[in-house]
Amino acid sequence: MRKPIIAGNWKMYKTAKEAKAFINESLPLMKNKDVDVVVFPPAIAIPAVAEALAGQELVKYGAQNVHWAAEGAYTGELSVGMLKDAGCAYALCGHSERRQYFGDTDDTVARRACAALAGGIIPVICVGESLEQREQGIALSVLAEQLAGSVAGIPAGQAENIVIAYEPVWAIGTGKTATAADAQEVIGFLRKELGKLFSDAVAEKIRILYGGSVKPGNIQELMSQLDIDGALVGGASLEAVSFADIVNYSNK
Ligand code: PEP
Repeated sequence: MRKPIIAGNWKMYKTAKEAKAFINESLPLMKNKDVDVVVFPPAIAIPAVAEALAGQELVKYGAQNVHWAAEGAYTGELSVGMLKDAGCAYALCGHSERRQYFGDTDDTVARRACAALAGGIIPVICVGESLEQREQGIALSVLAEQLAGSVAGIPAGQAENIVIAYEPVWAIGTGKTATAADAQEVIGFLRKELGKLFSDAVAEKIRILYGGSVKPGNIQELMSQLDIDGALVGGASLEAVSFADIVNYSNK
């Protein structure tokens, strides 16, 4: 059984003080013990989140990016060792905004993910097609290539520990959600591709999340799909009540 993950990507929102206030408000509201809950604060707010989350097991936290080198002259980057030292359990790799604005490619995403995994951090590897690619009818072939490139070098023996997030670029922050059936179709396809890249048995264990305008109103239907193992939530993760409502989806 794959344990679902509900993850909140706060992007470049929330100061340390705001992050702490969010945790203090949302923690008592989260009642669903059957999911892994993860928040991805801006790096500078991670210590405040760590402090606010101390002494509980439900909510873990991670970084929005990670570098592949152990240390070095890489201004603005953070290493796996630094994230471990800060208590991070997860790291986003290749979010579409990193790919679009900061030059991440399948190759750099794979390097980030391999380093994270080797250092004991769970990489959440993001893939997604653009609207243009979807309209051209090439979404699945684009995704197959992106997935293969972004997991290149991950040892098959450790691949069950990675997490994939399918986030159609046209659905991020736009209010447009893929229908649950469309998301299931693509995520089922990605699982088959993972089967070819690793093995069917490994692919059955890898958690694949959907992301793109997930809200309290659509989480239930998304989570009822066979292959959807959770959600990566942007906008709706910034507000304590809406994020807790998404976490509590199965209690409704
Ligand atoms: C995201 O940033 O990963 C995301 C899915 O954003 P939103 O939920 O706002 O579409």
